[in-house]
Amino acid sequence: MSSAEPQAEPKAGPERRASSARARFPRPEPDRDSAPWWEAVRRHELTVQRCEGCGTLRFPARAVCNRCRGRAWEWVPARGTGRVYSWIVNHQVFMPAMAGEVPFPVLLVRLDDGEDLLMYGDLVDGSPGDLEPGLPVEAVFLDVDESTTLVGWRPLR
Ligand SMILES: [Zn+2]
Repeated sequence: MSSAEPQAEPKAGPERRASSARARFPRPEPDRDSAPWWEAVRRHELTVQRCEGCGTLRFPARAVCNRCRGRAWEWVPARGTGRVYSWIVNHQVFMPAMAGEVPFPVLLVRLDDGEDLLMYGDLVDGSPGDLEPGLPVEAVFLDVDESTTLVGWRPLR
């Protein structure tokens, strides 16, 4: 790939800081398996896949069940809570729009719905110094523009 889609110019305005800053970040690119998940997030619903063959929950989205090899699934609501599994604190300015945002933590959260359910997301309303493995968090939905919502994680204590 040598060319990129033209990016819309960021709008200046009285938006909340977090939203306006994140609006300039690269957009998620849903694929066939993950598109329904992104649509649910847009509705502020956190979902995971459930195999229709054996009932196993799974995330990230994939086409085949690891347990029974079944190819039929449905999306079901997740509890929206989990525990910090690991995290990185990003200090790198990958693009000019991020210059005022670093450092920022990106969490990997193990959902309370199942051991194998791991989701990434920004830390919301917390500081990197508070992070520890097992810290309870809840999902929050960050509307960055009219078409995109991201999931972040807020500490529960
Ligand atoms: Zn299965």
